[in-house]
Amino acid sequence: MVFRRQAQPDYVRDVTRRPPLQDNPARHSAPDDLCDAETRVLDAIDEQALVHELVDLIRIPSVTGTDAESDLQHRYAHQLATLGFDVDTWKLDLEGLASHPDHPGTEAPRTEGYGVVGVLGGAGVPALVLQGHVDVVPTGDLDKWEDRNPWSGTIRSNTVHGRGACDMKAGVAANMAVARALVASGVTLARPFALHAVVSEEDGGLGAFATMLRGHRGEAAIITEPTSSKVVIANAGALTFELRVSGCAAHGSARLTGHSAFDAFLPIHTALTDLEQQRNARPHQLFDGNPLPYPISIGTIRAGDWASSVPDLLVAEGRLGVQLEELPAHARAALENAIDDVCRRDPWLRDHPVQVAWPGGQFASGHLDPAHPLVGEVIECIRHTEHREATLSGAPYGSDLRLYAGMGGIPTLHYGPGDVSHAHAPREQVHIEELVSTTRSLAVLAARRCGAHL
Ligand SMILES: [Zn+2]
Repeated sequence: MVFRRQAQPDYVRDVTRRPPLQDNPARHSAPDDLCDAETRVLDAIDEQALVHELVDLIRIPSVTGTDAESDLQHRYAHQLATLGFDVDTWKLDLEGLASHPDHPGTEAPRTEGYGVVGVLGGAGVPALVLQGHVDVVPTGDLDKWEDRNPWSGTIRSNTVHGRGACDMKAGVAANMAVARALVASGVTLARPFALHAVVSEEDGGLGAFATMLRGHRGEAAIITEPTSSKVVIANAGALTFELRVSGCAAHGSARLTGHSAFDAFLPIHTALTDLEQQRNARPHQLFDGNPLPYPISIGTIRAGDWASSVPDLLVAEGRLGVQLEELPAHARAALENAIDDVCRRDPWLRDHPVQVAWPGGQFASGHLDPAHPLVGEVIECIRHTEHREATLSGAPYGSDLRLYAGMGGIPTLHYGPGDVSHAHAPREQVHIEELVSTTRSLAVLAARRCGAHL
């Protein structure tokens, strides 16, 4: 195991200054239909520690690719080792991974990254893996955050606030709370339980990719991304693309002597909108209620370098949604063909065709058969502990699911605390009651799948 020998940065020292809880999280009585060992694990969940853990995690600004991301991984490994887990911490071979033919792509600059896997109890393949990514996206405009501080971990109205609160430090904290409860309860596990903490999920999934290459596996995995109380068994994919559209520079006062790259882009944008409509005409039933499960979205546009010049180049970057069971190559071809069509019909673009590239994150879609036993087991645990019937759903974003299910061959689904509409948004937040109730379901699932006994 590797530990950094450096002065702790301020945000690590700051975690000792925790905000007071406004209310105690709701107390729950154990349901009757659990075995003694499962009840013992439920009773061992320390809800206050769970909330404090989330606050601590938010205060470490682990934006993908930064040193804080590595700091969080080392902290996580240390916690697991302290609990008695067998911990594998390794430094990612970034160069080796980059040259791998299946490299998932990255977007953030990164000089290092670590993998952390902890296994508790028994021998053989873990019966359950709980996985979470420790990285978060940047904060965006600070003025959109209360007190201009996205790293506060402030608790208001029984809700924890801050970047990563739901995506997905709540899930990471829940995973750790399950680990603590399994140890604190004193139960014995017939089969191993594993926790995976990964980096770089937000910019492509390099951490999950490296974890699968390292050989870590499980009979089933839950990624505790925020699922808004649903059980998510499918992810659409997302492919980052770049378009380079040529123009011809001229003085703005004589713009007819040039050709604006911005104007040249407009029919391309229309074609992408048409393509988006076609690709969303008959979405999979798991996306019922979602009007646009496979968006094509332009995220950045740069054009020109002077206000009174006609721009001679426009560079647009965006993401293309990948349909369930669609190969990424097929999705790429659909976009490239749509752009080729426009270029053939447009007098300027015919002679100056748009260049399409696929840099950055390349998320294939992924899914789990709804008939797989894991799905029923999760629904049953939710029924026992949260007293409700969970619905199955698909998520329109790419995630590590496709790497665990695809590369790893591990039956994988998402179930975790938080409303995904807060993810990547200002004032990101998670409700404490949901954090606790989801953790309880995950704890019962872990006890059950790993054969916990007294
Ligand atoms: Zn996430």
